Amino acid sequence: MFLRELSTSVDHIRGAGPAAVRTLAQSGITSIAGLLCRYPRDWEDRSIEVPLKDFGSYPAVCTVVTVLAHDWFGFGRMRTLKVYVEDDTARAVLVCFNRPFLEKQLIVGRRYRLWGRFFYKYGEIQSTAFEVEALDGDDAGERAGTGGKSSFGKILPIYPLSAGLSQGLLRRLVRSALDQYGAPLEDELPGEITAKEGLLSKAAALRAIHFPQTLGELEKAKNTLIYEELFYLEIMVGRRALERRDRDTREQTAVSSGDEPSLLQKRLLERLPFKLTSGQLDAVLEINRDMDGPYPMARLLQGDVGSGKTLVAFMAALRAVEQGRQAAVMAPTELLARQHAENAARLLEPLGCRIAFLTGNLRASGRSHLLKALAAGDIDIAVGTHALFSKDVEYRDLRLVVVDEQHRFGVVQRSSIMAKGDRPDLLMMSATPIPRTLALTVFGDLDVSVIRDMPPGRKPVKTHLAKQSNEGKVYEFVGKELAQGRQAYFVYPLIEMDENKDLKDAQSMADRLGREIFPRYPAALIHSKLDEEEKRKTMEAFRNGEIKILVATSVVEVGVDVPNASCMVIEHAERFGLSALHQLRGRVGRGDAQSYCFLVYSDDLSEDGKTRLMVMLENSDGFVIAEEDLKLRGPGQIAGIEQSGYLSLGIADPVRDAEALARARGDAFTVLEKDPGFLDPDHRVIARVLEKAPPFSGVTL
Ligand code: ADP
Ligand code: MG
Repeated sequence: MFLRELSTSVDHIRGAGPAAVRTLAQSGITSIAGLLCRYPRDWEDRSIEVPLKDFGSYPAVCTVVTVLAHDWFGFGRMRTLKVYVEDDTARAVLVCFNRPFLEKQLIVGRRYRLWGRFFYKYGEIQSTAFEVEALDGDDAGERAGTGGKSSFGKILPIYPLSAGLSQGLLRRLVRSALDQYGAPLEDELPGEITAKEGLLSKAAALRAIHFPQTLGELEKAKNTLIYEELFYLEIMVGRRALERRDRDTREQTAVSSGDEPSLLQKRLLERLPFKLTSGQLDAVLEINRDMDGPYPMARLLQGDVGSGKTLVAFMAALRAVEQGRQAAVMAPTELLARQHAENAARLLEPLGCRIAFLTGNLRASGRSHLLKALAAGDIDIAVGTHALFSKDVEYRDLRLVVVDEQHRFGVVQRSSIMAKGDRPDLLMMSATPIPRTLALTVFGDLDVSVIRDMPPGRKPVKTHLAKQSNEGKVYEFVGKELAQGRQAYFVYPLIEMDENKDLKDAQSMADRLGREIFPRYPAALIHSKLDEEEKRKTMEAFRNGEIKILVATSVVEVGVDVPNASCMVIEHAERFGLSALHQLRGRVGRGDAQSYCFLVYSDDLSEDGKTRLMVMLENSDGFVIAEEDLKLRGPGQIAGIEQSGYLSLGIADPVRDAEALARARGDAFTVLEKDPGFLDPDHRVIARVLEKAPPFSGVTL
């Protein structure tokens, strides 16, 4: 029997009375499997002696003491008992807050086992968090909630508690359940893998995660259960990739153009004033092969800010057009969608492509006209926001869907996008590099192309940190750049003034920068609350140089491309995530001139905050920054990840366990190669992982 099949109700556990069963149910624990999968969050090692004198070197003392004397301090309800004790090494004081009954239990002259966290205070070694047990007798053990057995001399599990649960109850019931049902549990990992990785059997791992004999055994138990989870996660990922291939095999449309761009693509390249970087070219060729291949593409294109992903997307669109079919290019904001549409018009219309721009703000008449043209196939490439995939939008023959800045969409209903065509190719593009570890999980069933190089001639952006009190110097510097005809961005965390926060906001600063600080240069404000037409006009004016200073919130974070802008000033920089800072910084350094990024921070910035900003100073590689961000903030903060199912693992942590993850992935894929049915729903699967799996719709295609 597998653990997941232990759906037996907890009331079958010996010693689980109706009250206990009810308490468990309140915390969502009804089956024995559910109980046994509630792993401890920590363990207390009471298996080794730690004498009083060593209280400072260990998390807790574990020793045998003699009670020397009682004493009381405080008055009335605050009256508190102090018990003086000593072992062979030192004297100490137990401060018995709210435990006056200990006066009767801790008898002067007798000996007790003692476990406690001690600290040094008022010249004494003190503890307020301790447990005691009479040296010969287990009545104290009863009170400690260990089911009459001593809670000393072993490693004790500490469970996460909720709704009326106590450590004592959980320890008692888990132990009973293990005794009754634990031994016959079958292994879920294939035997070769258990052997290769030096893991425990399932039964042994489960017992040891709850009641380890030694810390070494605990470590092995953790490794076993972590590996098991990661292995099944990767089996699922691998299955999904396989399914896509099986399910969707389609007629091969064209003989692969092999290792050079196709005809129409070459015509675009001839018109460009520059050559593709080798990273771009490789990506284009990979995409061509996918698009000509026997099953739909599902590819993630990663490339740092400014690496030229848009062009790769256009090349892919041309491949679809060349086959007489349609492409849709979706961007997360109207601003960015418009920029793409303008570029597409400029670059692709001369090649005979018919381009349309579709957003939610289109007037009804224009919209219905456009929808007709799309449905009739009179449009080759539609560029827009998620409006491209509204219910009433139909395509004649949608062959390619490009999702730009896909991290911005979180969990888009990709299935609704894909439903607009007959198994269209999907190209997702992300400039917030996805840390490798996440890429293996959340996006693990996608093929990945990475552009590692930057277009030539780019000078790395020079980054400077500045205290808020030194902002004058920053403004002075920017003034010099403006005087040379350059443009600047100023970014703030807030749109408008907030009485409660002592922060600069974009609105007030637009005013101040324009009137007081740089009166000679036109400034304008842009943020998400402005209407699209106003945003469009402002961006256009900034792009053609009428506006010199663009004051913004993080709306300019994504995609905006104005090569003449050479300064990015981010005030209250500590308020932004590292990935956001990286994106913002990527707005400059797009032309030939040297560019600068100023991160202005509060004078009272914390050490943590400084560490984060130092990451920006020391790194320009978005991949490195994303990894650092992940380490500093945890995966929950990475946009889109929280809904992805990635976080619903029980004991494994793909970041911490990155190495195990990579091995588990290898193992999983090997297993699937030999036995593609390995994760059939009624095959050997960990139900728990599967139950939690639906969130993977994040990458369901
Ligand atoms: P991102 O990858 O951040 O989306 P973009 O596609 O916006 O980057 O490209 C940034 C800028 O680089 C654009 O102005 C684009 O025209 C330019 N660019 C793209 N590819 C090249 C290249 N191979 N050589 C020179 N400039 C390029
Ligand atoms: Mg882009």
